[in-house]
Amino acid sequence: MSIKKIEAVLAPAPAHMVGDGFRVHNFFPGGRIMDKKRMSPFFLLDYGSKIEFSPSAVQRGVDVHPHAGFETVTIAYHGRIAHHDSAGNSGVIGEGDVQWMTAGSGLLHKEYHEKEFSEKGGAFQMVQLWVNLPAKYKKTPPKYQPITNDMMGRYAMADGSFIEVIAGEYKGVKGPATTFTPIETYNARLKKAGMAEFHFPSSYNTAFLVISGEVIVNDQPVSADHFVLFSNEGEDIQLKATEEAIVLILSGEPINEPIAAYGPFLMNTWEEVDQAIRDASQGKYGVLE
Ligand code: MN
Repeated sequence: MSIKKIEAVLAPAPAHMVGDGFRVHNFFPGGRIMDKKRMSPFFLLDYGSKIEFSPSAVQRGVDVHPHAGFETVTIAYHGRIAHHDSAGNSGVIGEGDVQWMTAGSGLLHKEYHEKEFSEKGGAFQMVQLWVNLPAKYKKTPPKYQPITNDMMGRYAMADGSFIEVIAGEYKGVKGPATTFTPIETYNARLKKAGMAEFHFPSSYNTAFLVISGEVIVNDQPVSADHFVLFSNEGEDIQLKATEEAIVLILSGEPINEPIAAYGPFLMNTWEEVDQAIRDASQGKYGVLE
């Protein structure tokens, strides 16, 4: 056993709106985690903490915008989110589902509250992760993986707690998402007093986000909506729920390449960013109404 040390426990930053549908706290890059490679291969984490949306005839969200050079991963905890992209993919994810979209060579998409959810209103809670692609896969064709909750790997424990595996593998249970670099993404859904241990290489960048409940990470208490950043020392983490809890677990092998990030584009060089801006504005990412 070599305990992975906690580098910081971060409270959520003040929320900002993405479009009119996503009220998010950014955990990185920014704030206490300014280094754009600190959580590589994860580049960005926006967390929509739980709020109530009032009923709306107009579907709130983010209208058509481009992405290129990375993947957007949306995890729904409450509410329903719809998606359309210029590669011809669309879908709706609800509570417990994940949408894993590879922008790769470039596309346009829009993301918004699903129609019926919008009309009824209700609780909304989600995560959006941006996962970087290494240079050799930057131009991979766009891809869309709708991962419903029942598709996820499930490592069950005697007390009813379980680990939901979205990507990677936990104790022999594999997740359905295909990834371009080694990535572990799970939800730990623990009953009160439920426990789980995790083992990730010290070189992997690793973090937990407490979605709900109170937990103890190693020996440190952590509240809901807080983010635990681990140092790159040690490999083992102990998680214990002091009350019923959900914790998002993220770990991945860093991509050691230059980053040129501008708005919705994530490239290796500024020349590639300029090209992406030109491509998007010249309609090379297709058309989406
Ligand atoms: Mn987007």
